[in-house]
Amino acid sequence: MKITKRILALVLILAVSFVIYGCQSDGDAGGSDMSETMKRIKDTGKIIWGTNAEFPPFELRSGDKVIGVDAEIAAKVAEKLGVELEVVDMEFKGLINALNSKQIDFIAAGFTIEPDREEQVLFTDTYFRAVQTIIVQEGNTEIKGAADLEGKTIGVQSGTTGDFTAEEYTEDIVRFNNALEASIDLKNGRLDAVIIDNLPAQMIVSENPGLVLLDEKAAEDEEYALAVRKEAVDLQKVINEVIAELKADGSIENWVEEYSLSLQD
Ligand code: GLN
Repeated sequence: MKITKRILALVLILAVSFVIYGCQSDGDAGGSDMSETMKRIKDTGKIIWGTNAEFPPFELRSGDKVIGVDAEIAAKVAEKLGVELEVVDMEFKGLINALNSKQIDFIAAGFTIEPDREEQVLFTDTYFRAVQTIIVQEGNTEIKGAADLEGKTIGVQSGTTGDFTAEEYTEDIVRFNNALEASIDLKNGRLDAVIIDNLPAQMIVSENPGLVLLDEKAAEDEEYALAVRKEAVDLQKVINEVIAELKADGSIENWVEEYSLSLQD
């Protein structure tokens, strides 16, 4: 009887240690410490980039392709991971939802780090400093600086930091899917001003005679970064490595110049 009990205990100990060992070796095999996102990227051999390709020089359409600074960065991320890059071009305000519902794996969209967004996504390191600028009609004597925006009709791209900035000045905001549409309404006199990031603003003004940029900015500086799902810490790390390399070798600066110039021809 005693011996049977001992054997039983031994069998039990063996069984338990087998289970524990089994679990550990499973983890070592690379399953448990890789994020779900990274696992899917490796399994499918592709990574999905979400953007709104109406934000030059960071992203714009050229035929059926999306080009620009963010497209270059996205391509480097895919290259580093050794997978294909697929792009999904959508409305800017839908990007966070698309990320968290797994339609895309990362956002690269001239996307500003912002406290409210930080609660919903995991930002990478930054790669560009931007600022909100004010576009008005040439010869506008009423709006000379940010303080003159008080109570005015302001056009913005929906859900952007330009939109949030406009809220500080007025309740009369007209929201568009992209800044170019807003600028057309400004030209036609339906808006008093448009608030948008500085580089797209410069491009709009250079392509639309009759529109000018004010010297005074509408807000403090902001920083662009890529964003991944909260759980994808390993993907964030890879993207941070890519950003560090591209900053160090001057690539980002060069692309900003290249895409700004090529679009102004
Ligand atoms: N930088 C702005 C933001 O993050 C605008 C970006 C964009 O329109 N693509 O809200």
